[in-house]
This record gives sequence, C-alpha cells and structure tokens, in this order.
Amino acid sequence: MSTYPPASVTFVRGEGTQLWDDEDKRYLDFLGGLAVVALGHAHPVVADAICEQARTLVHVSNLFGTVPGRQVAAALDRLLGGGGQVFFSNSGAEANEAAIKLARRWGGYGKFGVVSAYGSFHGRTLATLHATGQPEKHEAFQPMPEGFRHVAWADLDALEGAIDPTVAAVLLEPVQGEGGVNMADAAYFQGVRRLCDERGLLLMFDEVQTGLGRTGRWFGHQHYGVQPDVVTMAKALGNGMPIGACWARAEVAAAFSPGDHATTYGVQPLATAAARAVLAVMEAEDAPGRATRAGAKLTEGLLALDAVTSVRGLGLLLAAELDGRDARAVAADALAAGLVVNGVTPTALRFAPPLLVSDDEIDEALTILEGVLS
Ligand code: PLP
Repeated sequence: MSTYPPASVTFVRGEGTQLWDDEDKRYLDFLGGLAVVALGHAHPVVADAICEQARTLVHVSNLFGTVPGRQVAAALDRLLGGGGQVFFSNSGAEANEAAIKLARRWGGYGKFGVVSAYGSFHGRTLATLHATGQPEKHEAFQPMPEGFRHVAWADLDALEGAIDPTVAAVLLEPVQGEGGVNMADAAYFQGVRRLCDERGLLLMFDEVQTGLGRTGRWFGHQHYGVQPDVVTMAKALGNGMPIGACWARAEVAAAFSPGDHATTYGVQPLATAAARAVLAVMEAEDAPGRATRAGAKLTEGLLALDAVTSVRGLGLLLAAELDGRDARAVAADALAAGLVVNGVTPTALRFAPPLLVSDDEIDEALTILEGVLS
C-alpha cells in the first residue's frame, strides 16, 4: 500500500556501513536503517547467530520456555542497573503499547492517563500514535483512543500543569529522534523524576531510537542521572531483526498477571538469538564508547562545512541544521552522490550511522556531503 512514497533506490546487499543497489552502485549508510543497524549491515556474528538458530529452533510459542530470551532479558536488566523484568515485542510501537498497558494496570481503575511531549514519536498503532505528540498525524484517524495528553517539550511547568489524578505515567524520549533530534537538559529530566515521585506517576523512557549505545551511553536517560520505572527499546536490539522490549522495575512489572498481555512472536528464539549476539558484540566492541568518539568526529566535521550552522544530538544520533536549504532536497542529492542520510526536519539532516563506523568512512561521508552542499 502507498504508505511510503515510491522508493528511488533498491538496495540488494550491505556490509558494515556500506550498501549496494541493484545496479551495483556503492553507498555509505549514515542513516543505519533509521537507527536500527547499529553494528552495520550483515554483521558476521549476528548473521551466524541467526543462521544457527534458524537451524535449531525458530518458534514454539510462549506457552513454553526457550533459552535466548531469558539471556537477553538478563543482559538488558544488567545494562539498566538491575532489579527489573522484560516483556519482548516485535517492534518499538508494540514495546510502547506494552508500557502503556502496564501503566494502566499499575495505575488501577481511573488512573490511566499518559502524558507525553509535543514533537515526540512513539509509534503508529492507535495508542502509540495518540501518545505521539504530533497532532497532524492524528487527524486522519480520529477518534484517537482516550487517555493521552501532550505538553511542551522540555517545559517542567507545562508538565506539572497537565497532571491530575487520572494520570498514571509520563512517557518521554531522552532525545526526540523523529521530531528533529531535539534535546532537553539534565535539570528537566531530574525535575520530571521529582514530579513523578511527588505525584505517584511512572517515568517511562522511550529508548527505541536512543537505546543500546547510540547516544554514547547504553541508554539515553543515563546521561541525565535519573532512574526510570519503565524503559522501552527496539531498533538496535535486533540489528535489523524485528524485536522490541519493555523493561520495568520489578514492583511495576508485577502489575501484569498471566493473560494481561501477550504476543505470538515476542521472545521467539530467532529474534532473541539475534539480540543475544547483538548485545555480546556491543559489549565486546564498547559500542557506547565507539558512538561517543565517532559522534565527536562527525560533529566536528559537520561544523566545518559552510552550509552547516549548528549540530545537535548525542553520540551518533545527530542533526545538522542547514543554512536555510531544503534538507529533504539535500538528502536526495546526497543519495544520488552515494550517501544515505535523511531530512529529519525541513532544514536539518539526520545522521544515525552504524556505531562501528570507521574514521575513514566519516571522512568519506563528509567529503560527499561537502560536494553536495557546494
Ligand atoms: N519510538 C521511537 C522513539 C521511535 O523512534 C520509533 C520509530 O522510529 C518508534 C517508537 C516506533 O518503532 P517501530 O517503528 O519499531 O514500531
């Protein structure tokens, strides 16, 4: 169905940060499948894990136990500081759906509301679409499910004003990804945590785009010294295999009883074996450290370009503000020149390359971009 504009390029093969199209033209992928391919395309360890699991056991349903999911849950819990439990889904939107349902179950009768920020993006299912703070995306699909309200991003007073006894949770991205790579400071997030504690609300971080090393920490909220109640993730967890996860502190997770929530494919061994391999490689390669160093180099190179007025973001989730040029047109020209990026706003380009991107690849991407901009 025509949910995306017609594609101008068909990719057939990838390796690390490189892609090749159906005419064997080579590209550098600085979008990483929308912040998904954190270890690069066709990573051999992940590919081997998928192949081996495909020959071993792909699916048995959640009526029975399997091994890799438990190991991935334990690893995620460790990276999040411990003391939590995980529900596996197939996507970011479904991870957020799980979080929203958990908040309602935890809140109990009459306490069901979720407050999120304008400019946020939380998914395309009806509930996560309403949580998404972009009213223009709601219009065609009214009526939206009840129980969602939006407040100005990075404005603690606005958040406080939106809280009443029907609210169960606050849902925020540590950096707004789809909304334009928009930042808020530590004081804001610490204030949100305080407010949630005072009013008895869950603080839920949507780390679908920021999670698993991309920002230079395992999770974006870890930059801000706040302890979340719920964290959702997806994208990088499977390096392209569809998998998402909703982590919650054990006391919060305890609100779910058998039968409250489910999915046929969540935690199936093929996806969780891929995720297990992804996490092992990320830890071995120090993915967050790689993102920090590569992000600093990319930022410096972008700022040296005449047409770039500023760069924002963390680690390897970056946006370069252009001097008034049409970012979508620049992204199209970059694609023709062999560099994959996207226009995240009408005036800003987004960069989310694999976290293992090399210095040479960053230099090459900057040279292509310089040529396109001049
Ligand atoms: N949340 C955030 C922050 C995202 O960036 C996205 C996708 O871009 C989603 C949720 C939705 O994830 P998915 O497309 O896997 O459903």
